[in-house]
Amino acid sequence: MKKIVNDSSYRKITYLKVLWRNNQPHIQIYDHDAETVTTQSLIGYDFSYQVPTPLERMCVNYGDLFEDEKQNRCEKLVKSGKKCGSCIREDNIFAAQFHNVHTKDRSSISQKILKRMQKENILYIAGFFDGSTKVGTSASTRIHTRLLEQGAIHAVLVVETPDGITVRLLEDLITEELGIGQAISIRKKIDGLLNPLVRDSLQKELKILLGKVKDCILTSGITEITEIATTWDNEYSTETCWEKIQKYPISLSTGSHDMKVRSVVGRIAALNHSSGMTLLADLDELLGISVETGKITGDEISVQAKLF
Ligand SMILES: [Zn+2]
Repeated sequence: MKKIVNDSSYRKITYLKVLWRNNQPHIQIYDHDAETVTTQSLIGYDFSYQVPTPLERMCVNYGDLFEDEKQNRCEKLVKSGKKCGSCIREDNIFAAQFHNVHTKDRSSISQKILKRMQKENILYIAGFFDGSTKVGTSASTRIHTRLLEQGAIHAVLVVETPDGITVRLLEDLITEELGIGQAISIRKKIDGLLNPLVRDSLQKELKILLGKVKDCILTSGITEITEIATTWDNEYSTETCWEKIQKYPISLSTGSHDMKVRSVVGRIAALNHSSGMTLLADLDELLGISVETGKITGDEISVQAKLF
């Protein structure tokens, strides 16, 4: 059922990206009438919108390119998916330059790429609430942002390397030798938040892995590294709103919604629904679609309260 929005707060907007800045979650928003891109803090943010039909999609890269005044590269509107053809092509060229750069002979890599790789990187192992663990790398300057983006619950920063090539060699070695993967699916991250492991058991598991990872690095013969071994905890994941949380039963990309953000882990939000329940949703569902905001009454939902 289409609801009519006729108050003065009506705006047509598109949510483009979830961004972490200064360790806090933000959302990048495009305003179709004003043609502006703004970034707003997500904690306390009201998602009060309805999705018009037919669905209108927009390239999620548009906001970043707009801020860099390079938006003319972007086709802006897309028929399906999250990015326009032009942005997908640029992404592919960029990825191809970096793909397997650590396995190539350094003399065959362009100076431009080599220069980009010449900054300190950190190798970390991270754990998620379903018990999954992964190994990963990040530029040292944005390690905390990287862990927050991924929605990790605990992590151990293992070593720092002087460049981005050494760290990728170590990462591959750990995956090959210890069978620790490099990516965790969003499905597992959501399952973990819905049914979290006991916090202690995840920390214990990471501690055991740290010992194995250190041994593996020692035998690698790579010496240009600095040991760190500090731990990191996702403070958002300890907030009480995540306790007994359940999944928001309808997709964010259709219908009408009225909720306030309580907390964010990665791109997954804990939302206060008008029914009084706190529910979990993957914000990626609403990125890139045009919505009408204003004073909206959300669609009715049916969720049974969790007893234990
Ligand atoms: Zn684009």
